[in-house]
Amino acid sequence: MSSKLSLNRRQTVTGLLAAPVVFSFNSATFAKAPMLGAAAPAFHRFKLGEFEITVINDGAIQLPGPHPIFGQNTSAEDVQALAKANNLPGDKMEIGFSPVVVNTGEKLVLFDSGNGGARRPNAGRLAKALGSAGYSADQVDMLVLTHFHPDHIGGLMENGTPVFANAEYAAHEIEFDFWTHDDRMSGGTERVAKLTSSIVKPLADKISMIKDGSSVASGITAVAAHGHTPGHTGYHLESGGKRLLLGGDFCNHYVVSLQRPDWHVKFDMDKEEAVATRKMLLDMIAADKIPFAGYHMPFPAVGYVEKSGGGYRYVPASYQLNL
Ligand SMILES: [Zn+2]
Repeated sequence: MSSKLSLNRRQTVTGLLAAPVVFSFNSATFAKAPMLGAAAPAFHRFKLGEFEITVINDGAIQLPGPHPIFGQNTSAEDVQALAKANNLPGDKMEIGFSPVVVNTGEKLVLFDSGNGGARRPNAGRLAKALGSAGYSADQVDMLVLTHFHPDHIGGLMENGTPVFANAEYAAHEIEFDFWTHDDRMSGGTERVAKLTSSIVKPLADKISMIKDGSSVASGITAVAAHGHTPGHTGYHLESGGKRLLLGGDFCNHYVVSLQRPDWHVKFDMDKEEAVATRKMLLDMIAADKIPFAGYHMPFPAVGYVEKSGGGYRYVPASYQLNL
């Protein structure tokens, strides 16, 4: 240790009482590191039986809320109080986007396509993050759409070209029929219907239309989760005796949607059907103690559900899925 840094107890006490001790460091010894800004991992991978599951970080946006996006049928004060009780601010929030890749051993299946590169400044990173995770877009054998909202279909094409060149697709027939109907091309549905027309419809001959309970690959079964949109669909994964629910958007906030499942959400097209779906699926995964992946849960967006009070509590997964 240099003599400049070596103080005995007496000197230290004297120094403190008399005047601040000034150390003279040679500035060349200490590099000034630049501030790098907030950061998050690009992907998170774990095993589920024989499946390998990779959650992709498409990005996250910050926006005002949770009220009035969440809790439309209650007061702003109620929502703010719930946020505060959970150590969250009452006037702003973050929503992440987490598409999921499932390697079944036979097929590489991607659930939802992210926002797409041009739609949002802090999201739309799927293609790049896939590369970080060790995959190329060309390797995706099947792309399954939980529903047709822009943050889920936005990454299907870039500049009119399909991003996943070798993929087949799967979507619920109710969802496809709803958004491609001429009646949707005006009013409140216009924006999504036009996006569907430009980036989903051109892929129609490669889309398998599925129903509730359909199997899209061995061990992957469609679960009715309607309400958020008319054909919104979850997927039940089962491999080697392990199970996981891919919930899509049945819950969109890890605190509000779980602790107050009855509260209406702006993005749910049929509010009461979405509430019923939320409670039905939360009840199932809480009772069966199976993990779920939620597209808008905080990255890596995998957790468990416990019953708590009149609602539920989100418990982020830790090492359970690594064992
Ligand atoms: Zn969404």
